[in-house]
Parts: sequence; C-alpha cells; structure tokens
Amino acid sequence: MPTSGNPFDIFPRVTLMEHATPIERLFRIEDALGADLRGTRIWAKRDDHMTLGGGGNKLRKLEFLLGQATNENCDTIIAVGGVQSNFARLAAAASARRGLSCELVLTQMVPNNSEAYQRSGNVMLDELFGATVHALPEGANTIEFIEKRVAELAAIKRKAFVATLGGSTPVGCLGYARCAFEIHRQSRDLGVEFDLTILPNGSGGTHAGLLAGAILLDQDPKSVRAHSVLGNAEKAIADTVSKVNATLELLHRPAALTANEVNLSDAHFGDGYGIPTRAMVDAVRLMARQEGLLLDPVYGGKAFAGLLTDIKSGIVSPGSNVLFLMTGGTPGLFAYRDAF
Ligand SMILES: *Cc1c(COP(=O)(O)O)cnc(C)c1O
Repeated sequence: MPTSGNPFDIFPRVTLMEHATPIERLFRIEDALGADLRGTRIWAKRDDHMTLGGGGNKLRKLEFLLGQATNENCDTIIAVGGVQSNFARLAAAASARRGLSCELVLTQMVPNNSEAYQRSGNVMLDELFGATVHALPEGANTIEFIEKRVAELAAIKRKAFVATLGGSTPVGCLGYARCAFEIHRQSRDLGVEFDLTILPNGSGGTHAGLLAGAILLDQDPKSVRAHSVLGNAEKAIADTVSKVNATLELLHRPAALTANEVNLSDAHFGDGYGIPTRAMVDAVRLMARQEGLLLDPVYGGKAFAGLLTDIKSGIVSPGSNVLFLMTGGTPGLFAYRDAF
C-alpha cells in the first residue's frame, strides 16, 4: 500500500514481502536483565519474520534490486557473497519466485572448513532454491570470474544483473530507507517513540538505508546505532557514510551526512567477520531461552550482544525505548553448530 509522500514509489520494485513486519516487546529479556535493565523497554522489529525463502533483511534490498533488474530486462541474477551468505540464499529464493535464473558466486570470507559451514545452512538452501552455485576457492579473482560469466551468458543471449556483496548499492539501500518510513508509521500506531534503533552493520546497506530514511524523516541520525561485524569502526563508518550520501543523491536530496554523525561501535567485532565470540553465543542463547526467537551467529548475535552492553553501560539512556532490528539469517546457525 503506497503511503502519501513516500519518495520511493518512483523506483521499480517487486513485492517480496506482503506486509509490514511486526514490532514486539521483549518482556522476558527485560525481566532476565534485572537491575541491569535500568527501566529500558526493549522492542524487536521482526525482519526475520517474512515468508519468502526464510526471510531476512536482504529481501528489502532485493525488492528494489530485482525491480531494477526487471526494468533493465535482465533474465539472470548473479549474486555474490560468502559461503554462508544470507543475501545469496534470498537472491536464489526471490529469483525462483520471480521466474528469474540465478547464479551465486560464493567466496571464502571466513576461515572455516568444517563440513557444516561448507555444506549446511544457507549454502544447502541455495541449491534447493534452484540456483547455480559457483564456489570459488580461496584467493580466486572474483571480479574476473563474474566478468567472464557475464560474457558467457551474453554469448547465449542471456542478460545478467550482477548484485555484489550484500546488495548494498544505492538502489539496494532504498529497501531500508523505506523501512525507516514503515517503522515511523508503526511507532505512531503503537504510540511509542523509539529513542534508539540498534542493528548489525555488515556491508553497511541496512544501516545506510535506515540513516537515509532518518534524514528524510528529519530524525537524528545518531538515533540509529550499529554494531560492526565486518570491519573496524573507521572503515565501517566511512563505507556507511558514502552509501548514505549516494542513496540520498539517488533520491535527489542534498547529500549531508558526515562521519561524526554515524553512531557505530566495533566493540563486538571480535576476531573477524564470521568468527564467533563468547558474547555472541550468550546473546543467541538468551534470546532463544527467554523469548523462543532465533538470532544468527554472524550478525544479529553480535549486535544483540552489543545492545546488552549498551544497556548496561548507559549508552542506551535509562528508561528509554530501544528497538532492535532482527535481520534474520537463522539458517546460519546450522553452519555454526560447533560454536554452540
Ligand atoms: C547481511 C546481513 C546483515 C547486515 O546487513 P548489511 O546491509 O550487509 O550491513 C545483518 N543481518 C543479517 C542476518 C544479514 O544477512
């Protein structure tokens, strides 16, 4: 349902989710925190709660990316990611749903050669959704491989649309700019003002989209806080700023964001992307045991661990409403059975 004044309606978009995702209060986590809670109310925006392909944040980006691909008359989606990429899995599912051909170029981003990591979880689902999987060996030249594959497809009269890591192009970022408007509407309907939204930052497109949306809605960009899981703070902030400004440019708004307006911490990054931390395991367990909900080990687990420390340290103001963006990725749990 288009909303009046929605600046995203001019962009081609395919519908991959029928409804707004729910926002719920995490009462049992609040109880479990005891005195540490300091009167905080913890809410979850359930972007893990979507019907297509197991759901997750990448579907919002794919709505606009597949819109662009369709508009450009592409018949094949080539999506790039790590072996356990949720983006690849959802590109495969969305392509199946839209009758597009899908090829996945999966790279070794995480030093994990376990059977579970290399064969289970997302990568197992990729094949189930009918995608052609190109698993590249460590050190392979990904860009060269993709160029060659695009040319091979062109030679048989097929037109490929290449969606790189996380789908975080300016067009992909529109998905979460639009989500900021969805949250704004829900906040009004609930009668709750969210003082701080907390989420993971990987390729940065989710954070960047929410920030672009916040700017369009005249909200303080610092009210969106991310925990980086893919790079150190300096790099994650620089990447996110350039994505926000590119997204605003696409929307014909003056690009305005600077690095010191980005609220981001790398305290829960640990030893690297996809490498488990103790706090992540504890956070995934807490959510499962108190609420019966699943976080993923690469993104949501680390970000929720960050939220818990932010509450304890007072970064979340005592007595405020904090909204945690649950981004999905639960198939990844099966790849990380060793960590649990
Ligand atoms: C990709 C992903 C993220 C991070 O989103 P980015 O836009 O890449 O920063 C967070 N959570 C899950 C489950 C993801 O798959």
